[in-house]
Amino acid sequence: MVNPSADHRLAEQGCDELTQHEANMTAVILDGKQVAAEIRADLAKEVADFVAGGAPPPCLAAVLVGEDPASQVYVRNKARACEKAGIDGRTHRLPADAGQDELMALIAELNTDTNVNGILVQLPLPTGSGVEYDEREILDAIDPLKDVDAFSPVNVGLLMQGRPRFLPCTPHGIVQLLGRSNLSVAGKKVCVVGRSDIVGKPMAMMLAQKTGSCGPDVANATVTIAHSRTANLADVCRDADCLIAAIGRPEMITGDMIKPGAIVIDVGINRVGDKLVGDVAFDQAKDVASAITPVPGGVGPLTIAMLLHNTLAAAKLQSGR
Ligand code: NAP
Repeated sequence: MVNPSADHRLAEQGCDELTQHEANMTAVILDGKQVAAEIRADLAKEVADFVAGGAPPPCLAAVLVGEDPASQVYVRNKARACEKAGIDGRTHRLPADAGQDELMALIAELNTDTNVNGILVQLPLPTGSGVEYDEREILDAIDPLKDVDAFSPVNVGLLMQGRPRFLPCTPHGIVQLLGRSNLSVAGKKVCVVGRSDIVGKPMAMMLAQKTGSCGPDVANATVTIAHSRTANLADVCRDADCLIAAIGRPEMITGDMIKPGAIVIDVGINRVGDKLVGDVAFDQAKDVASAITPVPGGVGPLTIAMLLHNTLAAAKLQSGR
């Protein structure tokens, strides 16, 4: 997962500020692919046990509207990951101009289908076909017990109150990556740049809780949420022991915005020419941070792993097993 000596160093020191000498060492690369593979292997065993207990395989229904190439790849990857974990992954396709009513009718059908345990609508919904979608109405229509993306107000409320039913996949993947890399944020300053409902806000909320899926060490942080109106963003970022960038701006976080020895988690996925880059200028950041996620191969692979986790959790909840 991580270089063992560096892992030991990080485990001992958590997010503590490292000396300048140590900070000048190249950061430990947090291998999201490896951690996701471990989670998926564990999950495949749990699914097998669940099925061996007499339950049908958990079923995830993905809804894909339109033909956006990136969305098609994401949905295909989710279906493949389901198959490998022993989960029944179904894809429901609608044309871009299907319209709100047809999409709402499909959600209603999936809500009542007792064979379906989890529902996800691949975002973004298409624009430009002459048909506008009300994304909020569609996400709100998903049965909260099948809401494996954890976007429904009920599931967001439960998370806010520290008694989550499902954890949102990308922030949960980050918690798992920190926990499985023995990186503590308890009592430390975490800055989350970005306040989206999908990443920034739930990430901040999860790390501010008293405990979480990796225990109290990957929680109990003193969290700052930064955004496009934050004054002196560089200073705010530089104050953080753990900096989480979820912005969607290629390489916006430069090396001078990072505290020496900080943990840097790069959520961004930006296409620049034929390359994927994160929100962090990796080559600069790796010489300042103590640990950093690459793009690709950092946070991305964990998102799907946690979606599978939520699908099994939904199946267990619905079956009462
Ligand atoms: P989003 O909804 O567009 O939110 C972006 C956030 O960044 C907003 O809160 C925005 O502030 C803030 N921001 C924009 N420009 C800024 C600036 N110059 N300074 C400070 N803050 C700024 O994006 P998202 O859905 O959270 O996604 C963020 C990135 O993560 C994207 O690259 C996306 O592709 C990636 N992502 C990756 C995964 C994964 O699995 N790895 C999952 C989801 C998303 P305002 O609120 O003030 O506008």
